[in-house]
Amino acid sequence: MDYSDIQTIEHDILVVGAGGAGIRAAIECAQQGLSTGIISKSLLGKAHTVMAEGGIAASLGNVDSRDNWKIHFRDTMRGGKFLNQWRMAELHAKQAPDRVRELEEWGAVFDRTDNGLINQRNFGGHRYPRLAHVGDRTGLEIIRTLQDFCIHQGISTHMECTGLDIVLDDGRVAGLLAYWRETGRFVLFKTKAIIMATGGGGKAWKVTSNSWEYTGDGLGMAYRAGAELIDMEFTQFHPTGMVWPPSVKGILVTEGVRGDGGILLNSEGTRFMFNYIPEKFASETADSEEEAARWLAGDKEARRPPELLTRDVVARSIKKEVEAGRGSPNGGAFLDIASRRSAEFIKHKLPSMYHQFKELAEIDITVEPMEVGPTLHYFMGGIRVNSDNQQTNTPGLFACGECAGGMHGANRLGGNSLSDLLVFGKLAGDGAIQYVNSLMTELICKNEDISKIIKKATAILKSDEGENPYLVHEELQNIMQNHVGIVRTEEELQSGLNKLDKIKSDINNVFAHASAQYNPGWNEALDLKNLIIISEAVTRAAILRQESRGAHTRIDFEGEQKEGLDYNIIVKQTDKGMLAEKIKRETPPKELKDIAYASLEELEG
Ligand SMILES: Cc1cc2nc3c(=O)[nH]c(=O)nc-3n(C[C@H](O)[C@H](O)[C@H](O)COP(=O)(O)OP(=O)(O)OC[C@H]3O[C@@H](n4cnc5c(N)ncnc54)[C@H](O)[C@@H]3O)c2cc1C
Repeated sequence: MDYSDIQTIEHDILVVGAGGAGIRAAIECAQQGLSTGIISKSLLGKAHTVMAEGGIAASLGNVDSRDNWKIHFRDTMRGGKFLNQWRMAELHAKQAPDRVRELEEWGAVFDRTDNGLINQRNFGGHRYPRLAHVGDRTGLEIIRTLQDFCIHQGISTHMECTGLDIVLDDGRVAGLLAYWRETGRFVLFKTKAIIMATGGGGKAWKVTSNSWEYTGDGLGMAYRAGAELIDMEFTQFHPTGMVWPPSVKGILVTEGVRGDGGILLNSEGTRFMFNYIPEKFASETADSEEEAARWLAGDKEARRPPELLTRDVVARSIKKEVEAGRGSPNGGAFLDIASRRSAEFIKHKLPSMYHQFKELAEIDITVEPMEVGPTLHYFMGGIRVNSDNQQTNTPGLFACGECAGGMHGANRLGGNSLSDLLVFGKLAGDGAIQYVNSLMTELICKNEDISKIIKKATAILKSDEGENPYLVHEELQNIMQNHVGIVRTEEELQSGLNKLDKIKSDINNVFAHASAQYNPGWNEALDLKNLIIISEAVTRAAILRQESRGAHTRIDFEGEQKEGLDYNIIVKQTDKGMLAEKIKRETPPKELKDIAYASLEELEG
């Protein structure tokens, strides 16, 4: 095959993914004068980022002046159970305020305080009101602003274009083969560097807040190109997804509901979170309803209510209540804001939640409680990168946003993803620019490499028998939901791994016999190649971590083990297949360690 027949587009830097991370990275590259292209599986503005509700975390100190980067850093490390990459958490806490202000300069209109500053709301795990927000539609405002700004920077956007695989030249990035979803035609992007910004992979589970696009493509492509994945065992189950009706099970109910005063009740009407306060957080959490009520009324001496403990803690607590027979009728818990706030307040601060429940469940949340339960929400793990420039171990390949790992450790705090996208999107742009400017060799995309990718993809179209890709996807989701869920055991994980191994051959045997044009079965079949990689990576890493930490709960290894802090788990491709192994964590600089373990009094002000 001669690839001169294939449409070819050239850019200095190609960004894969048009969410907050990808667009921010592309802006950086374009502003430095490099030819920058951005491709996205769906339309510009439709990425996951648009779905973000509650807000973006940054220690602006607008609502409580005691806040500062050190406390944000401390909260992030504690939330991540100290497994975060220290340098990433430091850069994130230090740079988030500038990225938020920059967004404002570019036109984002955040909610305001009475004296005209950017308003900030409370969220789980954040000591102070820290989330800049626009009602519960923050992601929409962020993506709108970035999108409006980016189209004036000379960036070429290629929409409904799905990346299939990276093309390497002697181990370095030389291009990316993609296809147009509308026509099914292939397109080769020749490029000196790729910034992966494809988001997570929630679609490997049955109950998830993620949309159809989140099939772990960036992780799959990077893995096949030799990059390592890190922290894959840490998959976040958000405590509050809708549980009823079945057709909407998993759709997110923002943590903003609890941040604005919502409480969790079991079927007996008990506010059960008071029974699940971990020792580590006890000194900073209210121990009575009376104290929690004072906190809500604005008493700065009162401690935060237990509903605002980190997501891993709240999700497990709901699961325990259900298992004890105290769940709501549809297997969750009740989330009540109606008894705490006026209807006017709820409609103003949580308009999307109001409409979501009204439209989808015929429930008026200003009057009745919502029914909620855990839903797979976010990948803490992802492509392993250098903390300062986001470069992977594959030369020319960078990653940022949810598809990159390391920043959030064992558990992400709400609001820390949107700030992560902007901070590390910019740094990935800087890193890629530096790499491209120092590149001396000419890069070649070899015919044989391109034809290999094309042959694999088109085999699915040519075959007229095999497995149905939709049914295989369903089977994979059942395996992950039942074997690699919110609580795990060696036996369950191992059995899950065996089942994944079995469906690998089904995945290699899927067929979508038809033309490549408008062929969603083919699109689904191609996504499966990435879904199986992330599923296996999560399962292998989860088997290897024999302790319970953050979002990873092993009931056969209860509690955190001291040595669990000494390593991260990486996953990589070898000649013998996928390998998960422990790597030693670096010793943090003393200054950072002191901050992470300091008392609040030492850091305030
Ligand atoms: C309902 C919901 C509410 C949330 N609320 C908050 C919140 O309040 N605060 C917070 O901090 N976080 C929140 N999050 C998390 C946060 O929104 C995401 O983690 C974040 O937006 C991810 O951004 P990203 O730029 O990494 O990727 P995304 O925004 O997920 O964008 C990924 C992009 O990659 C593209 N893509 C994927 N695969 C391919 C491929 N093969 N080829 C080409 N393009 C591809 C997609 O089309 C898309 O353009 C929420 C998440 C959800 C689901």
